[in-house]
Amino acid sequence: MRALLPLLDSRSYRDRILACALFVFATSSVRAEWVEHVEDGIMGTRIVVELWSEDRAQGEEAVQAVLAEMRRVDQAMSTYKPTSEVSLVNDRAAKEPIKISSELFDLLATSIEYSKVTGGAFDITYASVGFMYDFRERVRPDEEQIRSALPGINYRHLILDPKSRTVKFARPGVRIDLGGIGKGHAVDRGIAVLQSRGVEHALVTAGGDSRIIGDRFGNPWVVGIRHPDRKEEVIARIPLEDAALSTSGDYERYFDENGVRYHHIIDPKTGHSASKVRSATIIGPTATRTDGLSKTAFVLGPERAIEIYNKLEDIDAILVTPDGHVLYTKGLEPGEED
Ligand code: ADP
Ligand code: MG
Repeated sequence: MRALLPLLDSRSYRDRILACALFVFATSSVRAEWVEHVEDGIMGTRIVVELWSEDRAQGEEAVQAVLAEMRRVDQAMSTYKPTSEVSLVNDRAAKEPIKISSELFDLLATSIEYSKVTGGAFDITYASVGFMYDFRERVRPDEEQIRSALPGINYRHLILDPKSRTVKFARPGVRIDLGGIGKGHAVDRGIAVLQSRGVEHALVTAGGDSRIIGDRFGNPWVVGIRHPDRKEEVIARIPLEDAALSTSGDYERYFDENGVRYHHIIDPKTGHSASKVRSATIIGPTATRTDGLSKTAFVLGPERAIEIYNKLEDIDAILVTPDGHVLYTKGLEPGEED
């Protein structure tokens, strides 16, 4: 294990994470041509869009198109909205195959792929137990409720039929929730909207999930990773170009009771909060992928998670362990070249 490092040695990064002498935070060098927008409330989180546009009006219009796309994704995929496509699936898929949009079908297929890659640590059926938690209201299921709902958690209960584009649950008591991948997907959709408009330099963030296209005037974008307990403290600054980054933390949505932290990442095997790391930051090509993979370390623990991440060629990770150590995947190890 490696002691807490204030800054990573950028020379050892893979080539998509470029060397950068001057650490410029994304918001610090405002120029007229950079259009920046912060919007609270979509998907229950903060959305940030920054883009470079020759024409301010066009840039602002592109920002609005990104927000509209994110609202659309939220409407379709939120379990908080009883009329969403996902809520419909939860209501009916135990009884019969439900025809769904290709967008949802593909995201379910991707979720199952991530379940397989992570040995079941990422599992959208976590919601079979997870729906009984309400972290804002300090509500959690008791042991008996967990025990009886736990058999509903297993990604293998999801039966996808590509021909008819349907999903069915193999048994009653199964629920899905895309809270662990939906923001990443929405960020990727937002980036796609910008790319279709010819935008070449942009950052789109939804809560802990970000994706970047291009650079910032010859410099990479720099994303800070915060300390799990000290909000203002940055433990590492990651220069990025054409990459996505997701951070999951046990400090995002939680309550403490009798010395135990109950928080929003659930171990699919136990139905309890998974606390084997304090935070996990994943860097990869798309935000769907980095979002989907950032829960794994909480469930499997740092060593097993690093093993899995190291096997994935396009993924790097930075983990903060419960005792405050920081662990890196091979591609980020300070002083080691690939
Ligand atoms: P954020 O919601 O801020 O993007 P994360 O990316 O860390 O936070 O995702 C946490 C969410 O993932 C939880 O609120 C829940 O919806 C979902 N989730 C929790 N446990 C799991 C799990 N084992 N597998 C898949 N999704 C999970
Ligand atoms: Mg996320």
